[in-house]
Amino acid sequence: MKVAVFPGSFDPLTLGHLDLIKRGSALFDQLAVAVMTNSSKNPLFTVEERVAQIKEAVSGLDNVSVITTDGLTVNLMNRIGADYLMRGLRNTTDFQYERDIAAMNNFLDDQCETVFFLAKPEYQHLSSSLLKEVTSAGGDISAYLPANINEALKKRLAERELLRVKEDNEEAR
Ligand code: ADP
Repeated sequence: MKVAVFPGSFDPLTLGHLDLIKRGSALFDQLAVAVMTNSSKNPLFTVEERVAQIKEAVSGLDNVSVITTDGLTVNLMNRIGADYLMRGLRNTTDFQYERDIAAMNNFLDDQCETVFFLAKPEYQHLSSSLLKEVTSAGGDISAYLPANINEALKKRLAERELLRVKEDNEEAR
């Protein structure tokens, strides 16, 4: 059985990530999307929130599970019996970075085979951080996010803005 892991921060999951998950789900028997608990120092969404958001977004894909992980990806792979590590490539910057990580993972465990998926042209310019930046500046990027995550993102950024205004007001007093 071909079991793969797709680790990432997913803060939040975009349609670029979701496209990869659908393609991975068609290629592998089982695919575990692993939300990394230690990858982003100041995430917008908690790990629990991200897991719930992704579960809703992949609910139609029967062979996809959503888990959390920290530490070495190869340890997670050994725990769940995965031989394949899935990652996405959008550009040459991704390639340089991912090549080094793949080589290191293969050094740590020579059973670990990284499989790269090229981003679809329409999603090549997408990153979670760019979408957060555009949304917080008032831009509509709903075309790039699953509906549940678009709503959650707008809500969270509005909460943050309210908090910021409140803090500014308190400071001004
Ligand atoms: P990380 O912090 O591990 O890079 P991300 O959530 O940013 O976590 O990305 C997880 C994986 O998804 C990475 O392999 C990244 O290259 C890939 N990825 C991110 N955005 C896209 C996209 N728009 N299209 C295809 N792959 C993507």
